[in-house]
Formats: sequence, C-alpha cells, structure tokens
Amino acid sequence: MTPPPLTRIDALDSWNAFLPRVKDYATRRNQLEARNGNVSRLSPALRHRLLTEDEVIRATLDEYGFAPAEKWLQEVCWRRYWKGWLEMRPQVWKSWRQRVRQLRETLPREVLEKADTVATGESGVACMDILARELVETGYLHNHARMWWASFWIHAERLQWEVGADFFFRHLLDADPASNTLSWRWVAGLQTPGKTYLVRLANLEQYAHAGLLRDRRGNDRIADGAVKPSLQQDHADTSRRPLPDFSTSLPARTGRTGLWLHAEDLAPEIGPLAEFAPDTVAAFTSERTCHEHYRLGENRIHALRTVLADGIARAAARYRCPATLTDADDTATSIGAWARSQQLMEVVAFAPTVGPVRDIVPRLSSQLAELGIRLTFIQRASDTHAFALACS
Ligand SMILES: Cc1cc2nc3c(=O)[nH]c(=O)nc-3n(C[C@H](O)[C@H](O)[C@H](O)COP(=O)(O)OP(=O)(O)OC[C@H]3O[C@@H](n4cnc5c(N)ncnc54)[C@H](O)[C@@H]3O)c2cc1C
Repeated sequence: MTPPPLTRIDALDSWNAFLPRVKDYATRRNQLEARNGNVSRLSPALRHRLLTEDEVIRATLDEYGFAPAEKWLQEVCWRRYWKGWLEMRPQVWKSWRQRVRQLRETLPREVLEKADTVATGESGVACMDILARELVETGYLHNHARMWWASFWIHAERLQWEVGADFFFRHLLDADPASNTLSWRWVAGLQTPGKTYLVRLANLEQYAHAGLLRDRRGNDRIADGAVKPSLQQDHADTSRRPLPDFSTSLPARTGRTGLWLHAEDLAPEIGPLAEFAPDTVAAFTSERTCHEHYRLGENRIHALRTVLADGIARAAARYRCPATLTDADDTATSIGAWARSQQLMEVVAFAPTVGPVRDIVPRLSSQLAELGIRLTFIQRASDTHAFALACS
C-alpha cells in the first residue's frame, strides 16, 4: 500500500490521480481494499492542510459539477463540520484530555493491561488484531476499519472510549482533535445520543478484503448479534459557546512581522496569506511534548516533522525570507524567544482550531503581550463560514 502523502507536491499528485476516481467514490468508498483506489488516503494532507478542502472542492466541482460528486463532497465537508462543532464546544476536547489522564492513573491494573493487549493486536480476534497492528505500522486505517475497531474496543472489549480514542490519536497520521474525538463519541453512542455503532461479522464479510478475514480466530466474538451496546457515561458538557471571532484578512502592518507556521494549516501560499510579506517565518516541533504529554507513536512524530519541514520549505520559497523549523521543549516560550531575537513587532499565524496548538495560545498571548509584540490570527473565510453551520 502506498503511504499517504506528507508533502504538498505528493498530495497534489495523489489528488490528481484520485480525481478521475471520484465518480466511483459513492459506490466504492465503504469497501476495504488490499491496494489503493476506492478512497483517496488524502486525510493526513487535508488534516495538516498541505492541500486545502477549498482546492479539492473547487477541482471536483469543475470536473463533475455537484450531483455526480455529492457523496465525495459530503465526506470532504464532514471534517470541517466536526471542526466547527468542536470550535463551539472546546470543553469537549478538554474533557477528553482530562479523562485520558485520569483514566490512566485510576483504572485498575487489569483493565489497563487489557487495553494494552487489545492495542498491541493480541485480543485473540484475528481481524481486529490485524487492524491494530496496521494502525501502528502505517498510521492509517480505512474509515470502515476505524468504525469496526472502535466499536470492537468499546462494545465487545467493553473498554473506555476515551482510552481507545487516545490510541488512535497517538498513531493516526491524520489524527485530528475533532474528527477523532467526535467519531469515537459517535461509535460510543454519545454524539448522537442512544445511537451506538455495533460491529458485525456479516458487515466485515461484505466490505473487508480477503486478507483481513483469512484467519478466522475469535470471529465468534463479533458474530452478528454477539456484540451488545456498552453504555458509556458522557463526562463532557456539550453546550454550545460563541465561536471565537477571528479576522479573515491581514491588518495594516505595524513593523517587522513574522509568520508562525503550525501544523493546523500548512498552505500559506493559498488564501489570505498568499500575498503576505513576512520578514521571517518559523515553525516549531516539540519532541518532548509529543513524547511526554501526548505519547505519540514514532510514525506520527516523523509525519509531523515532515509536514512542518515541507511547509517551511514552501514558505521560504514563496516569501523569499529566512524560514526555520526548530525543536523546542516549550513551544510558547520558543515563539517568544524567536519573536524577540528577530525584533518583531507582530507575529501572524493561521487561527488554530481546538486542539494541541490552540491550547498553547493563552500562554503565548501573554508572553508576547509582555514583550509588546502583537499576535494576529487569520482565519480562512471558508472556515469562518463553514464553522458557523455546525450548530447541531
Ligand atoms: C473512530 C474514528 C476515528 C477517526 N479519526 C479521524 C481522524 O483523527 N482524522 C481524520 O481526518 N479522520 C478521522 N476519521 C474519519 C475518517 O475515517 C477518515 O477521515 C478517513 O478514513 C480518511 O481516509 P481517506 O483520506 O482515504 O478518506 P476518503 O474517503 O478519501 O475521504 C476524503 C476526505 O474526507 C474527509 N473524511 C472522509 N470521511 C470522513 C469522516 N467520516 N469524518 C471526517 N472526515 C472525513 C477526510 O478529510 C478524508 O481525507 C475517523 C473515523 C472514525 C470512525
């Protein structure tokens, strides 16, 4: 299987190769395959915006118009819908992170050991074990496989959805605070209250590729009717808050300006920053945060570094200014140090959506304010528009 693209140029190649297949997407998308083709595998590129949804939507409409590509367009828009939903309920992300920490500290040892056994692909249900190993080895699972596996974790193994979602978050190359958390909540029956997703062998037999079902050990545990809903308590407050109000265009320049490029949006050459003229650009990774705070897998850390390095290289070429990628113990402090050393009056960045990058904003804002440096977030107008629609 070809690995998902992690640079813009590879993402554009993959997208151009997939565009002719969009016409078959609605009928083929649920089918897992041993080789590429039924689905795009563009998710890491879209998640980090090596490629923007706007570009994909525009090219699709130019090629097909709306009706023949409706299902494909709907799926591409799902990501933004989830993002908008979480933007209005940032406490759902916070609550999930708190629960992961709390469960790791308080769950009985035998439950934690069971969770480890299932996640390392040793549950004894061969097809689910193949998927667990595939996730860790490749950083990708087909959507149907994600649904089966999440359901197996929650409803067959009767483990906490939060810990399963953390396993996905640590390994998926497209790991997204909104799509991942809210999809797991959906499988658990929390996102659409009372509607759980139950894994069924007949469904695998219809949609899995032959390799996944060759070894039939343990399949009785997911036989039709064998898996019963495990009702999970919702620990999150899901009430709606006002959306943050971000500008969609650059303000007048105040002096030396730096662009902080982060992994939420790595297409500065497309959209509101295309004509920007920063004096310097910087991106930051934090191996320490990746390892210690989020316990990310090696493939995921490597992918993060690769997409950021690609973004930095393109920004340097586009803006013809110095552009650096720095490994920082503490990202907020390092951005402050960079801004001071570059004698910046202003730091500009794409508005980060709810998740790890947004979490550092309060500290970053106060550090830059202390230094007298303005921090400006710019949101794509299409995000502002789409997020406002995610009310229900
Ligand atoms: C338990 C679970 C966890 C998930 N976690 C993530 C995650 O962390 N990050 C993530 O991007 N997606 C997540 N998804 C959604 C979906 O599985 C992936 O987006 C999709 O499988 C990516 O593969 P693809 O690019 O080949 O998809 P394609 O079918 O080719 O779809 C094209 C694009 O549309 C978007 N998309 C498609 N289906 C969905 C969907 N159901 N929800 C949201 N966006 C969608 C993605 O950006 C995807 O790249 C999760 C789904 C489940 C059930």
